Amino acid sequence: MFLKNITIKGFKSFANKVKVDFEPAITGVIGPNGSGKSNISDAIRWVLGEQSAKTLRGAKMEDVIFAGSSKRRALGIAEVTLTLDNRDGSLPIEYKEVTVGRRVSRSGESDYLINNNQCRLKDIKELFMDTGVGKDAYSIIGQGKVETILSENSTDRRELFEEAAGISKHKSRKEEAEKKLESTEQKLQRIEDIVREIE
Ligand code: ATP
Repeated sequence: MFLKNITIKGFKSFANKVKVDFEPAITGVIGPNGSGKSNISDAIRWVLGEQSAKTLRGAKMEDVIFAGSSKRRALGIAEVTLTLDNRDGSLPIEYKEVTVGRRVSRSGESDYLINNNQCRLKDIKELFMDTGVGKDAYSIIGQGKVETILSENSTDRRELFEEAAGISKHKSRKEEAEKKLESTEQKLQRIEDIVREIE
């Protein structure tokens, strides 16, 4: 799997629709200070489900929407779409090309999309689980991330290896199953209490 392109519209400094194509191997993004290089990696993080405005270098989530400039009025919607080549089947979905999108409006409406179909954030997370791609996964190494990994405690660092080893998905499903089991046990207990009362 590799990232073929990203389309950004209304996100941070990208007021107009901008499409950036990536080729396999290395792509370098160069430009003057403040020209929006880091905003591209913020856009990737955001579309993958980043919920923290601070991580995206803002104070609130609305800050990701183009706030206007001396020449242009602010916009009301930010939209980012990633197109991924999935010919190797890394993503568990029957498509050779997969698009993942996110939209947010100033009124707070928010959508996630997989191949242009609305979905939940959970679906995006599950799509990328165990692939190394994801807002917290190791495919995005931001400034200071290497130091953080080295200084993390062994439990936190273990999560990185679990993602690489492909067991995050199973761990997450196990946790979900355990929660369901617990809830079912509680219901069973309640039924037993009622039966005892009736007897
Ligand atoms: P450096 O090389 O200094 O790290 P950079 O090329 O990575 O810079 P970014 O940090 O990506 O630049 O972009 C910063 C620019 O994005 C600033 O000019 C800032 O005003 C602009 N910007 C951030 N959020 C918004 C927004 N919501 N609306 C309009 N412009 C924004």
